Amino acid sequence: MTISMKTVNEPYFRSLDEAKKVIEKINKKNKFDWDITIILDYKLNYAGLYIDEEPNTIRINPDQCADEIGEYSLFYVIIHEYCHLLDKKLKIVDKFKQQIRGRDKRLILNPNSETNKTEELTEIMTLYISNPFLLKLMSKLHWQFLKNVFKSPTICSYVSFVDTYKNWTKQWKINLKKQYGIYVRGETIYFME
Ligand SMILES: [Zn+2]
Repeated sequence: MTISMKTVNEPYFRSLDEAKKVIEKINKKNKFDWDITIILDYKLNYAGLYIDEEPNTIRINPDQCADEIGEYSLFYVIIHEYCHLLDKKLKIVDKFKQQIRGRDKRLILNPNSETNKTEELTEIMTLYISNPFLLKLMSKLHWQFLKNVFKSPTICSYVSFVDTYKNWTKQWKINLKKQYGIYVRGETIYFME
């Protein structure tokens, strides 16, 4: 007798796999040799959690993550929690507070960014990891700051950004244009004043 298991919601797990690959890439590119454990904790009251008591561990509750690709998806939450881990290891937030000061220097990417400096930073780090060229377009200062701290696993180029943009949902494109005045027509990136 054999028992076989099937995954019904496949994109869900594909994104878990994708997140793992991205983290592996970051570790390899930056020669970080720590082992990391991702615990799928279905009892967790949050989408994801990183605590100092478990310095090499990320806890994720897939049931609390959004189904669709994008913000608060399983992929996004894992990378976000990994950024907390990275911040602790490299003490990035201390440098962030020292080097990027002042109200006009804040980069609020979503409501979570408003929570505190650490959340503001981890949201920026998540963007730096997933789409560094977009971060560069939004704020060269923040992009340069992170570039000095660690290498992004994603290609940072005009062409690769335009390619990625083509696969975005209509809503993301609208949000980017509305909030940052950035949009793409054909192969060209435009800025609205
Ligand atoms: Zn967080």
